[in-house]
Amino acid sequence: MSSFRTLDDLGDVTGKVALVRVDLNLPMDGGSVTDTTRVEAAKPTIMELVDAGAKVLLLAHFGRPKGARNSTMSVSMTLDAVEDVLGKEVMFIPEVQGPVVAQSIGILRNGDIGLLENTRFWPGEEANDAEFAAGIAANADFFVNDAFSAAHRAHATTEGLARILPAFAGRAMEKELTALEAALEKPEQPVAAVVGGAKVSSKLAVLENLVGKVQHLIIGGGMANTFLAARGVDVGKSLCEHDLTDTANAIMDAADHAGCTVHLPYDVVVSKEFSANPTSLRVCNVHEVAEDEMILDVGPQAVEALGDVLKTCKTLVWNGPMGAFETEPFDDATVALAKTAAALTIGESLVSVAGGGDTVAALNHAGVAQDFSYISTAGGAFLEWMEGKELPGVTALKK
Ligand code: ADP
Ligand code: MG
Repeated sequence: MSSFRTLDDLGDVTGKVALVRVDLNLPMDGGSVTDTTRVEAAKPTIMELVDAGAKVLLLAHFGRPKGARNSTMSVSMTLDAVEDVLGKEVMFIPEVQGPVVAQSIGILRNGDIGLLENTRFWPGEEANDAEFAAGIAANADFFVNDAFSAAHRAHATTEGLARILPAFAGRAMEKELTALEAALEKPEQPVAAVVGGAKVSSKLAVLENLVGKVQHLIIGGGMANTFLAARGVDVGKSLCEHDLTDTANAIMDAADHAGCTVHLPYDVVVSKEFSANPTSLRVCNVHEVAEDEMILDVGPQAVEALGDVLKTCKTLVWNGPMGAFETEPFDDATVALAKTAAALTIGESLVSVAGGGDTVAALNHAGVAQDFSYISTAGGAFLEWMEGKELPGVTALKK
């Protein structure tokens, strides 16, 4: 039993009008869509409602039009891609409320799909204006939210509608929430968190939340340098937020109190210049970094030890690469640890959940993304969830 309403709770929807919030903020290049992953993600929910005979109205934002109509940001630009992925004709409706929408619903047959205009063309969307939401709701019978990636925003079509209409999580939302619950809310212990990436400052709240929840906190990437510096290590020319060493020490103290072991690298890959396969590349102990060298990856011994830590764990949550993985060979640690996590997941000893823009890219680069239990592509919403924040769009779906 999930703690939120899903499509299983719907009952007969024949002829009913469904408002379905999806993520159609698709990447574009010169007027055409370059990646349809987000449409694919929403397809099961849309087609389930179509097959059940509902009239399906898709709601989505597109770009940042800031509350005004803007022809360069019409959702209609995604129409061809949406039809391609769904394999079905979709009627574009250039409004979100009012008589034009009502008339269009009259034309739609049961199981037909309409695509409403960019919700952010109206200031009521981002202001979560109750009247605006009521105007959209007036044409519909129920609301389905399948856009986890927008759930950290309390907007009219991510939160407001759920307070007016009967509201349900779509299948993609359900999958995401189930995976996230299994990873941090009710995980099997011990839990390891891998946190990497460039800076401590962008992930402070994540680190502060995790120390109270996980048994092993593995810190890699550029942010490990700040923690190493806090412990008195000279990190040379490495990316390091020296003004945050007190904060880093406070996080390590909080971890101590909570019984969370913080793992920092003890060997590292360094170089004098940041380029692919530089001649000055070497591996050394963290205490041997020269003043003109930069730490660009976690070293092989530390990676092996971290793999052993994962072998003792039942759950893994991962955000942030271990090194500057876009440039070879500074992808080695990330790829090696990702492969270990993938093998443990395949062997069913580990539940592995990962998210974050660069993290997803890194796991794809390692060729193991499909082997993880769940990969979140939600970006901001995933990070806020890792920070332990309540997501308004999710709270609104709770039973
Ligand atoms: P995500 O998008 O998954 O949340 P971040 O944006 O926080 O991850 O961090 C990813 C970036 O961190 C990558 O561009 C990577 O090159 C960089 N990075 C990782 N380790 C280092 C390092 N040692 N020095 C400099 N940059 C690093
Ligand atoms: Mg990033």
